[in-house]
Amino acid sequence: MSLMGTTRDQDGRAPALELAGVTKIYGGQPPVPALRGVSFTVRHGELVAIVGPSGSGKTTLLHVMGTLERPTDGLLRIDGVDAAGLDDRQLAALRARSIGFVFQQFFLAEHSTAVENVANGLLYAGVEVGERRRRAADALDRVGLAHRRDFRPTKMSGGERQRVAIARALVGRPAIVLADEPTGNLDSATGASILDLLRELNAEGATIIMITHDGDLAARLLRQLHVLDGRIISDTDSGSPADSGAPAGSDASGGSGVPAGSGAPAGSGVPAGSGVPAGSGVPAGSGVPAGSGVPAGSGVPAGSGVPAGSGVPGGSGVPAGSGAPGGSGAPGGSGAPGGSGAPGGSGAPRGSGALGGLGEVE
Ligand code: ADP
Ligand code: MG
Repeated sequence: MSLMGTTRDQDGRAPALELAGVTKIYGGQPPVPALRGVSFTVRHGELVAIVGPSGSGKTTLLHVMGTLERPTDGLLRIDGVDAAGLDDRQLAALRARSIGFVFQQFFLAEHSTAVENVANGLLYAGVEVGERRRRAADALDRVGLAHRRDFRPTKMSGGERQRVAIARALVGRPAIVLADEPTGNLDSATGASILDLLRELNAEGATIIMITHDGDLAARLLRQLHVLDGRIISDTDSGSPADSGAPAGSDASGGSGVPAGSGAPAGSGVPAGSGVPAGSGVPAGSGVPAGSGVPAGSGVPAGSGVPAGSGVPGGSGVPAGSGAPGGSGAPGGSGAPGGSGAPGGSGAPRGSGALGGLGEVE
């Protein structure tokens, strides 16, 4: 991939995600270089693990990929769109349309049923309520939860909750789904079943990046990017035309079932739409990255599909160090019509918010 031109797949489609020379330096004394020149491309239809130890820069990378943090330098394109050229509002709209988020902590609205939680992922897609519910029901069916449609999260197991969250991330057919330690709160058998689900969804066309500190889990995916000290130290990408790397010790048969670069339509089979539940009800200061376009105080990335006030404990949105990426906890609703509803306004001073609540549980 070059810095200038967008690589295209056989269909002439831009990659789902491109990073080139991305750096992120946190200000302070001394400044912390969290990303030091990260370049990679994810094509539509890929399933990629980003793996690395604590402190290696994974969360920062997720924030940059998810447009929750602007890089200090370098290029980021989502579905062919150069994020640097967008103002905060446009960025929030891009995020709402193109990115689905799955978090370690699920972030479901406890008082809403499974189908309502998923339907909320379409609130700002301009889809009327009946259609939202229909698509949500389809998405729940796809994650194997048709029989739990009217259950509340409190009546569901951890694995079921994460399936609901995955359905919510996919219901809007985003170009890419970013999953941050999606198995981190689950026992190993349940975690394995969630990984299997991600693989199935990928085989059906969804483009997914899973961040994990678990090398064994990562090894079950065809492509793994290893991160250390803010750099990609290896990429087992075997699908690029340039084929620069043999899958290092990975079990290719454990791969996604979709050849990298196969051009499988992202999110096919997933109900169309997009969605940013309007943010509100989540207290200020919970960690929205400045420049994210997410109203401060909303606690969750706009476009994350996570409904505001979704059972995230009041007061902090996300407990510091709980593992929530800053800006998670409940979705901001900017970029969507009327969606800037999170109270607080100024709770996230630049540089303080995004990572204030960080540190996934590892
Ligand atoms: P990981 O998710 O792999 O554990 P992070 O992306 O959270 O890594 O952190 C990468 C590096 O950046 C670490 O050295 C961390 O201390 C530092 N860092 C993360 N957030 C901030 C911040 N807001 N301010 C300063 N340094 C930060
Ligand atoms: Mg982290």
